[in-house]
Amino acid sequence: MSAIAAPPASKIDAAAARVEASVIATRRDIHEHPELGNREVRTAKLVADKLRSLGIDVQEKVAHTGVVGLLRGSKPGKVVALRADMDALPVTEQVDLPFASKVRTTYNGQEVGVMHACGHDAHVAILLGVAEILAGMKSELPGTVKFIFQPAEEGAPQGEEGGAELMVKEGVLDNPKVDAIFGLHVTSRFAVGEIAYRPEGMMAAVDSFKISVRGKQTHGAYPWLGVDPIVVASQIVLGLQTIPSRQLDSTIAPSIVTVGAIHGGVRNNIIPDEVEMIGTIRSLDAKMRDEIHARIRRTAESIATAAGATAEVRITSGYPITYNDPALTERTLPSLRKASKNVRLVNAVLGAEDFSFFQKAIPGLFFWVGTRPANQTPEEAPSNHSPLFYVDESGLPYGVRALAHAAVDYLTSPSK
Ligand SMILES: [Zn+2]
Ligand SMILES: [Zn+2]
Repeated sequence: MSAIAAPPASKIDAAAARVEASVIATRRDIHEHPELGNREVRTAKLVADKLRSLGIDVQEKVAHTGVVGLLRGSKPGKVVALRADMDALPVTEQVDLPFASKVRTTYNGQEVGVMHACGHDAHVAILLGVAEILAGMKSELPGTVKFIFQPAEEGAPQGEEGGAELMVKEGVLDNPKVDAIFGLHVTSRFAVGEIAYRPEGMMAAVDSFKISVRGKQTHGAYPWLGVDPIVVASQIVLGLQTIPSRQLDSTIAPSIVTVGAIHGGVRNNIIPDEVEMIGTIRSLDAKMRDEIHARIRRTAESIATAAGATAEVRITSGYPITYNDPALTERTLPSLRKASKNVRLVNAVLGAEDFSFFQKAIPGLFFWVGTRPANQTPEEAPSNHSPLFYVDESGLPYGVRALAHAAVDYLTSPSK
């Protein structure tokens, strides 16, 4: 029971049009000054200053360089979080723009260029635009909006923690407790004006594995005197491929097991003692993810045993599944449709996103916002992470409106 009338959609759209120029200016400023994960000092200051100027409570240095803004509406209600990631990549920009990055830094001991090659500059600018819109209608809003500006989505530097996982660990979803979270990603896979989503698994869980196969060293001419770990490792590589292709129900969700490196041996006529393999596992379904882990262990160990060798399997869990809560997705679709006439249900991808750590804790919805220029096909448009990645800024207002409508509708519609 709320006596406050929800702000009409047209009012949000008008406000979005008013912030458009400043969203683009902010995006260009951040694009020209990219910073790597856990080093987003200038970006964080820009964000904090802007939020403060809008009368939003600001908390800084969350998970190293993260900034959290709290906008309290005029009445109690639910708490919705909106998230933007802030980090750039160790990529040397090749796009010819007046605001192209010329920044260089040291990354893992190497000198590298720095570029917003994943479009996180656009995410920050979009969310600051949304903050401006919502701050302007504070008196009409019930509940609370938490603006989460997150560091290190692309991974923290070696030896450091970071990103969404660390933010959750530091309590970003508590105090006040967040009920639902929304996030978006700009992409050249979709054209300007398109918003794309998928309920349930939208992006993959990423886990890595290491398998050490131990045999017995011998002369290459007398293999029966030892146990050849290279032949065993070869059988394991092929055995692992049958997990996605022969053992799991691929109609539920696709999955991938890739061996990316094999090391063993030093010379043509010596059978070595040991072979080491490393690889990546991608999955879109939580049950299937556990099943793949168990089957990798069983396959490697059993093949090794059959040959008289041993296999030690170590699996390290990485990003969880970017899992869009079905009920939240359903109730938010009308909000996305207010932002664009072209809202599409799309296939999942086997890339990953650390927004999944928020979704592991609370219901969340993550969606794509198209920023591919009209004159490029999806095939020729450079992908995210390319030194040629290009964001058509006319796609940004779709992101601004989508997040603004999603937040307002969530706070003002009756809870179930
Ligand atoms: Zn990325
Ligand atoms: Zn990204």
